[in-house]
Amino acid sequence: MINKAECYALALQEVKTMGHIAKEKASKLREQLLNDHAELARLEKEMIALSQKKMQAAIHTPKDLPLLEQKYTQLKQLQKKYLTTIGLDGNAFLPQFRCINCQDSGITERGTCDCVKKIANQKMLQQLCNQFPIDDFSFETFSLSYYEGEELEKMKENYEICRNYVNKFHKHAESLYILGHTGLGKTHLTFSMAKEIVAKGYSVIYCTAQNMISTLEKEHFGNTETPVQEYYLNCDLLIIDDLGTEFLSPVAQSELYHVINHRILLKLPTIINSNLEGTDLEKRYGERIVSRIFGFYQGLRFVGNDVRIQKRVASKNFKNIKNNT
Ligand SMILES: [Zn+2]
Repeated sequence: MINKAECYALALQEVKTMGHIAKEKASKLREQLLNDHAELARLEKEMIALSQKKMQAAIHTPKDLPLLEQKYTQLKQLQKKYLTTIGLDGNAFLPQFRCINCQDSGITERGTCDCVKKIANQKMLQQLCNQFPIDDFSFETFSLSYYEGEELEKMKENYEICRNYVNKFHKHAESLYILGHTGLGKTHLTFSMAKEIVAKGYSVIYCTAQNMISTLEKEHFGNTETPVQEYYLNCDLLIIDDLGTEFLSPVAQSELYHVINHRILLKLPTIINSNLEGTDLEKRYGERIVSRIFGFYQGLRFVGNDVRIQKRVASKNFKNIKNNT
């Protein structure tokens, strides 16, 4: 895993390369256009001559400058107009930078540009999500044909809730607790949500509870070169898969509480997947964590071809999950 400084260095390099490519592209296009269009070549020649006159005037006859400036602007306008008549952008001669703040140099007067920070951040997040095959899943490939009757209705409802969640996602969207046994599509739908929310430009971490907790434990004991806690705490959406299967030490428990509680306080959304019912959850994690989850998360129950679960097909009211057990 590469550390934060390395992510920044890579991001800066990437931005500069983009800047270089943009300049190169603009210069090639300019050369070709001047070659193919006599009118553009004529205007270019006039502008070069005028620039030289302006330089001379700046030294010897400053009073001539305004008129020369005016002429130059007129030529620029003619050039723009010509470019539009041949179907190009009026600014086609200028490099098309991705970031207008730093013109793809990565640096502004105030220091490192936000575009570099954003890319560096994405690189860190990507590493944290890398081990998950998010690309293999989508809403389109989620099949409801495995469900029937009441289960089918419930799963249709869950599917719609997940789709709506993505459509309406914002920085302070609701948190979800998705409950259900393995193999009922929890992971498929959460992967699908993660993928679409990432595509909207939000920072999303997808991790298993085991993975997150062992990373945080290592960090707690100072055994890591790459601190990542801040990413778990502050990313736009944190998805914790398989809560309840991890090895739980007192440190792990307190780290988990810290992440869940911090995100609730900042009103940042978290999605937890688990097969733990209310009382099991409480037995394992204690009242403190469970009351935070019950109080602030919307509960979704995934159902499937399992008699025990079918009997308990529950309402979507999360409080009922606890009462039913
Ligand atoms: Zn920038």
